[in-house]
Amino acid sequence: MIRTINPATEELLAEYQSMTGSEIEQVLDGARHAAAEWKSMSFACRSELMLRLAALLREQKNIHAETISLEMGKPFSQALAEVEKCAWVCQYYAEHAESFLQPESIDVDGVQGLVTFEPLGVVLGVMPWNFPFWQVFRFASAVMMAGNGIVVKHAPNVTGCAIAIERLFLEAGFPEHLYRTLHIDLEDVNRVVGDIISHPVIRAVSVTGSTGAGIAVASKAGMALKRSVLELGGNDPYIVLDDADLRLAVDVCIAARLLNAGQSCIAAKRFIVHSGVKEQFEEMLLASIRSKKTGDPFDPDVAVGPIAREDLRDELHRQVMQSREAGARIVCGGEIPDRKGYFYPPTIVTDVRPGMAVYGEETFGPVATVIEASDDDDAVRIANDSPYGLGSAVFSGDDKRALSIAGRLEAGNCYINAMVKSDPRLPFGGIKQSGYGRELSSYGMREFVNIKTIYCG
Ligand code: NDP
Repeated sequence: MIRTINPATEELLAEYQSMTGSEIEQVLDGARHAAAEWKSMSFACRSELMLRLAALLREQKNIHAETISLEMGKPFSQALAEVEKCAWVCQYYAEHAESFLQPESIDVDGVQGLVTFEPLGVVLGVMPWNFPFWQVFRFASAVMMAGNGIVVKHAPNVTGCAIAIERLFLEAGFPEHLYRTLHIDLEDVNRVVGDIISHPVIRAVSVTGSTGAGIAVASKAGMALKRSVLELGGNDPYIVLDDADLRLAVDVCIAARLLNAGQSCIAAKRFIVHSGVKEQFEEMLLASIRSKKTGDPFDPDVAVGPIAREDLRDELHRQVMQSREAGARIVCGGEIPDRKGYFYPPTIVTDVRPGMAVYGEETFGPVATVIEASDDDDAVRIANDSPYGLGSAVFSGDDKRALSIAGRLEAGNCYINAMVKSDPRLPFGGIKQSGYGRELSSYGMREFVNIKTIYCG
């Protein structure tokens, strides 16, 4: 049985039956037939449906945002923005997919070589709860515009969102069974998802989630020789240099740490601050964090909602406590409030060093970690001293200095004087334990196609 719980009130929202083996088999069989038809549809037909989906998302944004906020606690205004962003990515691929996948002609010693991009079939998505709509649409819009079908195993705590997304595809007029959701009980996830990956209908898999989930899924995909894209965790460094506009740096760092109560793979997690400005940065950070209200996601004044699940909140607190015991200083927060709901206060932890949990582990919550760096080289060394390599940011008044640092960071992206974000027009993904492959832009679209060479001799 799958249960969804409102993390702001701890109340049971709904219960859902987990699918049986034969129900899963039916879903896969239906997806296979639907994908076989879908691949022969023109880009114009696919685009029309994708644009209708974008319009529906915009029309129904309030109802979907409400489901997001109820199930995982995101402030309602942020949930609305998430649904709007889903409409954007659908529209983006509706308008660009055909040009991204145009066949390429290559002259081979006077003979024409042709490169075409053909769909693979049915792709499995394993999706997390933190952006329950966006993570799915980011993946599905590109994969489906490329001519593939989709089966999604969503996180159980956002099953209401998973069902709503499946309905949206049907309502927009996509062929029945082309986009399907699987409901799988937490206890069976490893075995059942493993069986699904090795099923002949599934041609590839994309995972967004923790590094542990990525390793589990990618190893199954490897055993079955199926392609995978992994968008995993991060411990993003935000480097603040001594010539930075500190007001801008603090505002961006706070926004990037507190968005979605800090539960984002690309949240700012480690603030690596030049020793010359560390004290001032911390003072400004404290003033800013104190102005942010925590509470009911439906209260328009609230900036930080609850953590999505009790076990995730407890794990976050363990990381903060372990770091304090190892010598870190807690500037504010760090205590579980005595109230209903899985809330955690915005927290600043400073004087952080290697060996502390908040230094080396991903913190999935509103915990800002401050680490002092003596100069640019030291800042780069600390930033790269991580098993992760997803996002990164540099704050400096000198573009050349910032660009030089950006070039030395081990990360999938680096934003200068700005917050790391995913944008349909830019490739998105990581290196090291943050995963491999890319989503979004033309790069994301070419992950799940057969790049076929045709030689016209
Ligand atoms: P998980 O990574 O475990 O969950 C993400 C998705 O992967 C869920 O659908 C989950 O299903 C599935 N999954 C997990 N293990 C397996 C497996 N062995 N085989 C198949 N599917 C699997 O995240 P959690 O929700 O447990 O969060 C734990 C931590 O992960 C967070 O604290 C955070 O650090 C990180 N995380 C990172 C995210 C990101 O965007 N990079 C997103 C979410 C979490 P099920 O829930 O049924 O296990």
